Amino acid sequence: MPEPRAQKGRLMLSYEEARRKVIEQIGKKRGPRAISSVSVWDALGLVLAQEIKTDREYPPFDRSTRDGYAVRSIEAAPGTELLCVGEIKAGDTVTKPLAVGTCVQIMTGAAVPPGADAVVMIEHTQRDGDIVRFERAAQAGQNIVPRGSEARAGQTILTPGTRLGYTELALAAQVGAAQLQCAKRPRVAILSTGDEVVLVDQTPGEFQIRNSNSVSLAAQVRIAGGEPVVLGNAPDRVEELSERMTQGLKEDALVLSGGVSMGKYDLVEKVLRAMGAEFFFDAVAIRPGKPAVFGMCQGKPVFGLPGNPVSTMVTFELFVVPSIDLLSGAAARPLPLFEARLAEALKEKPGLAHFLPAQIEWEGPAPQVRALPWQGSGDIAALARANCFLVVPADREKIEAGEHVSVLPRKDIV
Ligand code: AMP
Ligand code: MG
Repeated sequence: MPEPRAQKGRLMLSYEEARRKVIEQIGKKRGPRAISSVSVWDALGLVLAQEIKTDREYPPFDRSTRDGYAVRSIEAAPGTELLCVGEIKAGDTVTKPLAVGTCVQIMTGAAVPPGADAVVMIEHTQRDGDIVRFERAAQAGQNIVPRGSEARAGQTILTPGTRLGYTELALAAQVGAAQLQCAKRPRVAILSTGDEVVLVDQTPGEFQIRNSNSVSLAAQVRIAGGEPVVLGNAPDRVEELSERMTQGLKEDALVLSGGVSMGKYDLVEKVLRAMGAEFFFDAVAIRPGKPAVFGMCQGKPVFGLPGNPVSTMVTFELFVVPSIDLLSGAAARPLPLFEARLAEALKEKPGLAHFLPAQIEWEGPAPQVRALPWQGSGDIAALARANCFLVVPADREKIEAGEHVSVLPRKDIV
């Protein structure tokens, strides 16, 4: 069978186009998501599948943001004195209006009494017995957050598709949403391939290697919000590959490592094609990661990531992370690229975008980024010393020190 090696690279895209393709295809296929009810204590990183509305106004009362004195602002001119008639602490029930010519001591978080329209910070007053002297002019509304100004009663504050970070969880907790309807984590099958690969707890022969890709991929799936289903390693043989892939296609997505290059034993595409896969790209203009493949097979997204460990990691970040977002019912997160000044001049082969292990330094006046020495896409140790990838665009051969370059943080550690 001459196919598919002769065709490899026919569908080469830039990484931006390739991401768009993934997002477009998975966006099309998305069906209704499986949902479960999860305690707010356990929902970190999940995607919300319901609207959350406020149970009352926020804040529920005119709230003081300072320790000080609640006053009528016109009565608290510089040099004036008012009689302090009591104190209000956070949690106190407040109904009695503030009498004219008086003030009341108030604590942060307490309700401002009716009639008062400002809180003067304690630092701007002098107290002698029950007499409080004001040092500067009070402005109406100062140090008060009015009732309902953060949210109205019944207002939607969280929408379906929101990924729940600690702030979103706090917001849900604030309005009493103790149980949340969340999308179940997409189950992502992970299958490593290669005759040379042995289990992590095995002693490899001299020319064998341990299966580190399944470990990194499982971690990346977890960080992205998916549930890894690790299927081990398949040797480079058609029967074993198709058997394991059939198993993998029962999950929401299948991620393979290895077997997508041009070698005689790179069989992943061939086997997937025989199983009915349609490919949307089979190469990406990046290094590392050029042979990456994406297709849909039996209605499921399938990623064939190159086996060299750093290639596997980079292509996962670029293409699988947005897929896990979409499969969770969230929008695909944009790549969190930012700009920094290049510390040392660089020269890379043009035609491919390069993702180089690099170190971003925040200590100086502006962030600086420096590429680290490395031995290429097999060098896990170099990436472990890096906190980001420096992205060299495909159309640049040389970049001078001081120029601005794009940086992709290793968001698991930065
Ligand atoms: P391949 O993409 O199949 O040509 O694999 C390229 C290289 O990646 C292999 O020669 C191995 O050195 C390495 N590799 C492949 N699979 C794994 C794996 N599961 N864990 C770690 N390294 C791997
Ligand atoms: Mg291989």
